[in-house]
Amino acid sequence: MHRFIPYGRQFIDDDDIQAVVDVLKGDYLTTGPKIHEFEEALAARAGAKYAVAVSNGTAALHAACFAVGICEGDEVITSPITFAASANCALYVGAKPVFADIDSRTYNIDPDSILQKINSRTKALIPVHYTGQPCDMDAIRKVADKYGLIVIEDASHALGATYKGKAIGGISDMSTFSFHPVKQITTGEGGAVTTNDEKLYKRLLLFRSHGQTRNREWMEKYEGDWYYEQQELGYNYRMTDIQAALGLSQMKKLDMFLERRRELAAIYNESFKDVKELKIPEQLEVVQSAWHLYVISLRLDRTGKTRFDAFNYMKSRNIGVNVHYIPVYYHPYYRRLGYAKGICPNAESLYESLITLPLYPGMNDEDAGYAAECLKEAISKPV
Ligand SMILES: *Cc1c(COP(=O)(O)O)cnc(C)c1O
Repeated sequence: MHRFIPYGRQFIDDDDIQAVVDVLKGDYLTTGPKIHEFEEALAARAGAKYAVAVSNGTAALHAACFAVGICEGDEVITSPITFAASANCALYVGAKPVFADIDSRTYNIDPDSILQKINSRTKALIPVHYTGQPCDMDAIRKVADKYGLIVIEDASHALGATYKGKAIGGISDMSTFSFHPVKQITTGEGGAVTTNDEKLYKRLLLFRSHGQTRNREWMEKYEGDWYYEQQELGYNYRMTDIQAALGLSQMKKLDMFLERRRELAAIYNESFKDVKELKIPEQLEVVQSAWHLYVISLRLDRTGKTRFDAFNYMKSRNIGVNVHYIPVYYHPYYRRLGYAKGICPNAESLYESLITLPLYPGMNDEDAGYAAECLKEAISKPV
């Protein structure tokens, strides 16, 4: 039996380990110099003026919603084919998530569907660069400008991706990233928000640390060097210096990671190009994906197999397939809030056909070839 191949995995080398050890031997375990260095490296890479590192990608989305002032009575439009955090962040600040349907070619949010969901309560759009392929940002910007909406990109999948030659992270009001082990780079747990707006940057810094500041320029008064002020209700969403050092070290390998992900995706694409039962992930000409995930869609009209059968066959061959994602509003919590099946037909039918194949920088060509062969068996062999 082939050894187990997970769907995603971190890539950690001796330099990463040494960077962490160095911090452990130093003076600051949290909010020390590594945080700022990591933020500078991120901002530079994302083409943004500012980056604020936080404890995870979900905290990044929460912080972004707070910073732009989304609150009770507001509606926020996002995609249903995403990790629930893209919608949960609206609930955290008392707003209502509204789901727009996806484009069946790219699986990203469809700007025409966004238009149909806008009303007077709509405050922000949270497009998700699903699998690492950037959304149609020009079309989304046009909709946002027409209705005066804020755009927060959930770029958790897309560190290193580009849209029309521009890095993801500097295009909209804000962009959020995750450094969970399966993402492009990891800090164990971790996340960040990037922005070009100084006011938003300041609010992010406040929110990350209880809403408190020691910055004299930002305080209402000054009573002495012990003095600090709580100006907002924030959280402890800080990242440690240990994590930031790991992130900084990982950033040096980002291009290598992206290149390897692209190569592996190309192996899959080549292997599936003539398989009529499978639809390979379509890429827009104007984007470069960061290839967080490789998702294949089964053409259920052309194969007698179900996704359930194919998935289980892959598991039986020791391949850690996954499904990204169950439409967010299918979850019992969302059903209790009143969301029902039928809101986004394209997303719902896509969900029935999706399988995520293994993809991570430490995977070799043979692993990808094996996974591809097994999938072809899965859709053809009698059960
Ligand atoms: C990973 C992810 C998040 C959340 O990131 P965490 O770091 O796990 O909190 C949010 N949105 C999407 C689309 C993600 O993939």
